[in-house]
Amino acid sequence: MPDTAPPGSNSPIVAAYRARTPGSAARYARALGLFPSGLTHDTRYMKPYPLYIERAAGARKWDVDGHGYVDYMGGHGALLLGHGHPAVIGAAKRQLDRGTHFGNGHDLELRWAELVQQMVPSAERIRFTASGTEATLLALRLARAHTGRPKVVRFATHFHGWHDSMAAAYMNHFDGSPPIGVLPSVAADVLPVRSDAPDDVRKLLVSRDDVAAIILEPTGASWGRVPFDPALLIELRALTAQRSIVLIFDEVISGFRVSPGGAQAHYGVTPDLTTLAKIGAGGLPGGMLVGKKDLIDFLDFEVSAAAKREKVLHFGTFNANPLSAAAAVATLEVIAGTDACARANKFGADLRAALNGVLEAEGIAWAAYGTFSGFHIFTNPKRRAIRPRDFDPLRADVYELKDNPPEVVQKLRLAMLCHGVDMNGWPGGLVSAVHGPAELAETVAAFRASLRALKEEGELAPWM
Ligand code: PMP
Repeated sequence: MPDTAPPGSNSPIVAAYRARTPGSAARYARALGLFPSGLTHDTRYMKPYPLYIERAAGARKWDVDGHGYVDYMGGHGALLLGHGHPAVIGAAKRQLDRGTHFGNGHDLELRWAELVQQMVPSAERIRFTASGTEATLLALRLARAHTGRPKVVRFATHFHGWHDSMAAAYMNHFDGSPPIGVLPSVAADVLPVRSDAPDDVRKLLVSRDDVAAIILEPTGASWGRVPFDPALLIELRALTAQRSIVLIFDEVISGFRVSPGGAQAHYGVTPDLTTLAKIGAGGLPGGMLVGKKDLIDFLDFEVSAAAKREKVLHFGTFNANPLSAAAAVATLEVIAGTDACARANKFGADLRAALNGVLEAEGIAWAAYGTFSGFHIFTNPKRRAIRPRDFDPLRADVYELKDNPPEVVQKLRLAMLCHGVDMNGWPGGLVSAVHGPAELAETVAAFRASLRALKEEGELAPWM
C-alpha cells in the first residue's frame, strides 16, 4: 500500500484541486460519517480527499463537478473494453429483464465457462467464485488438499487478495510476520520470497518437502510494477513439476488482458491452477478458479466419493450469477474475436514511450515503465543516474520500485487530475482497448504541465 502522508496545505497544486472539486469535498464530508477514512477500498485513499465520479464512457469519466478525465483506473483493471462497451451493456440489460439470480444452472454459465476453457490454456475445468480474493483462497485450499502439505510460497509484494493466508508478506509489511488481525499460525504457513532473489526461491523449493503451492502474478507484482523475469516462470514450471508442488498463476489482472489467454498463453507456460476475475467477469463482480482436472476434481462429489476422500468445501451465493455471466460472455467474445488485447498493449507501449519523452525533455530522472497495457512511474527515490527510456526495472531493487515518496506522488496525482487525467496513486495505471490518439495527446500534455507544477513547488530537483 502507498504511504499517504497528506501533501502540504500551502501547495498551489492542492489548492487548485480543492478549488476544482467542491462537489467531491462535500461528498467526502458525508463519507467520513459512514466509512473508515471515508473510503470503500484501501487503494482509493487519497489526500486531501478522493474524487467522486458521476458517469463514465469509453476511456473517459466525469466527476460530480462536471469535469472530464482520461481514465487510467479502468475499474481496478476490470475494463479492458473501456466503460460501457455496447455489447456488454446490451447483454447485461437483456439479462436484467430475465432475472438476476435463479439459484439454478443456466445457459450463460455454460457459454461463459466454454469461452474460458477455449481461451485459457490451463482451464481444463472451471469453478466460479464471487471475487478474485475468493479464487486465490480456493486455489490454496485445493493445493493443500491435493498435496497434503501445509506451506505456501509467495513472492513478497505480489498481491493475491486480502484473505488471511495472503495478507502476510503483503499487508502492512513484506517480511512475512503476521499482520494485525491475522493469526500467527496462518502467517507461519506462508513463506515469502523475493522475485529479485531467484536463488533463494530455488533453494527453498528443493530443500523442503512441505510446500503445497507457489503462487505469483506472472507479469510481476501489481501488473508489473515489480516485474517478473519470464525465464523464472519457465524454470518454476519445471521445478514445481519435479517436486509435485502446485504452481498457481494469479491472473486476476493479467487474464484476458495480456492476451486473450492471459500471461500463460503469451509466455507459453501453463500453471496447474489459475485465478481469474475482473475482465473475466465482464467487469462485474465475479471470479473463477480454473485448472487441471485432477486438482479441480477435489470439488467433485463423485470423484471424491470414488477416491474415498473428503470433498473440498466451496459455496458462494453469487457464483456464476446471471448478470455477471451475461457481461462476461459479451466481453470474452469481443476479446476472443478481435485485437482488443493487442490494441491496449500497443497504446500502453506508446504511452510509456511518450511519457519518457516528456521526462527527458523536462530533464527529470524518473521513468515510465511497464509491460502490456500497464504503465508505472518510477520516481527514483534514491536519485540514481538513470535515463528514462533505458530504465530497466528488472535490475532495480524490489522495494525501491514500490517506494515512491508519498508527497511527490500525491501531488503528481492531484496535478494530473487538475489537467484532466485520473491515474492511480502508486503512480501508474491501466489502459483499455478504446484509449486512442486523443487520450494519448491529452495525457502527455497533462504530464508535462504536472511536472512543471511540481518543479515550481520545489518537488523536483533537475537531476539530469
Ligand atoms: N489478485 C490480483 C493479482 C489482483 O490484482 C486482485 C485485485 N486487485 C486480486 C487478486 C483480488 O481480487 P478481488 O478484488 O476481485 O477480490
